[in-house]
Amino acid sequence: MVSVSRLRRHPRQTTTFRQSPPTTHSRRTIHARPAVNPGIVTDGAQIAGETGDGVVALTDVEKRYQRTADITVEALRGVSLSLPEGSYTAVMGPSGSGKSTLLNLVGGLDTPTAGSVAIAGTELSGLSEPERARVRGEEIGFIFQTFNLMPRLTAAENVAFPLVFRGVDRTERMERARELLADVGLADRTDHRPNELSGGQRQRVAIARALAGDPALVLADEPTGNVDTETGDRVMSVLDGVNDAGNTILLVTHERRIAEHADRIVHLRDGRIQEIETVDGVNDTGDTDDTDDTGAV
Ligand code: ADP
Repeated sequence: MVSVSRLRRHPRQTTTFRQSPPTTHSRRTIHARPAVNPGIVTDGAQIAGETGDGVVALTDVEKRYQRTADITVEALRGVSLSLPEGSYTAVMGPSGSGKSTLLNLVGGLDTPTAGSVAIAGTELSGLSEPERARVRGEEIGFIFQTFNLMPRLTAAENVAFPLVFRGVDRTERMERARELLADVGLADRTDHRPNELSGGQRQRVAIARALAGDPALVLADEPTGNVDTETGDRVMSVLDGVNDAGNTILLVTHERRIAEHADRIVHLRDGRIQEIETVDGVNDTGDTDDTDDTGAV
């Protein structure tokens, strides 16, 4: 069980969250995050050198939408960002600043107009849609604010569902699902259907489902958007535990309080990274005008 009261991540040692390795593959070793966050760097050379090595590596990413023949919207204007393994990053910014576009590109749901997006070392831009779907399925766990659970399936069946496509047999799938549900504090709700669960419980089922395939990266889009404050705190406590277990998290939120669960906050404005801030409030870039041309993180 994850402690409900542990709203802040520190000290890390207090977490009891465990993530069992999947039964079918052990591609990635789950390990505790190093004491010093490798994602927080202040030196430009280090930043540029790191770009290709992260679980996520965005390099000079641009995204333009052609609205009409005459009107083009520049949703992202040269974003470079690297997320090291085990890092926890929040993205904030005003409406229209490009947050969803960024998340969609990282999730392989859309393709950039220019620049490159690599997930776990695989360059997405050059892949066909079926190949991208495979990377999505194997490397990324999605958590949406609307939960997106299947109403006719029990909590355990929802969590087990992604493993169907990996050829894991039903017994193993359900065993893994029950373990994951226990990890998020829902051991006694495995046979409940979504309509028999509270909003916060549903979101925790969605988190467990996102972890079922042992993804390299967990993407969360406003994960507390549809739950009350107290429940949102519990959901965030679970996500903190997920990060403690070694998963890399990229989270979009408009709430500063939520963003502060991350190691660092990427502030987007008009499609550019305006600033990268640590949770402690230290400004990493110091350059708010143009952080995109040298590989911002
Ligand atoms: P945010 O998530 O920060 O609110 P978005 O990434 O959704 O911002 O949008 C960034 C900009 O791109 C906005 O101006 C938005 O209107 C535009 N945009 C997003 N998606 C599309 C689309 N499919 N077609 C046209 N314009 C879009």
